[in-house]
Amino acid sequence: MAKNLVIIGGGAAGPSAAAEAKRNDPSLSITIVEKGKYVSYSA
Ligand SMILES: Cc1cc2nc3c(=O)[nH]c(=O)nc-3n(C[C@H](O)[C@H](O)[C@H](O)COP(=O)(O)OP(=O)(O)OC[C@H]3O[C@@H](n4cnc5c(N)ncnc54)[C@H](O)[C@@H]3O)c2cc1C
Repeated sequence: MAKNLVIIGGGAAGPSAAAEAKRNDPSLSITIVEKGKYVSYSA
């Protein structure tokens, strides 16, 4: 069964963590939850 990863926050650290996790395990299903309107605006 595929693993799920939920990341809270889509600033710089969130998407960076998602990319690293996906590099380590390409089968991961990743969801980023961002409360603001924009994602990765600070990266
Ligand atoms: C005025 C200012 C200028 C800057 N200028 C630069 C610059 O020129 N160059 C540079 O490299 N760095 C700059 N920085 C620093 C850079 O913005 C930060 O280092 C970077 O944004 C940190 O990223 P982060 O992902 O750790 O946190 P954040 O960017 O704060 O991301 C956290 C995210 O989590 C979201 N969030 C919080 N709580 C929740 C919740 N409960 N549910 C869902 N989402 C949530 C927030 O909306 C936010 O988008 C600047 C910072 C400031 C304040």
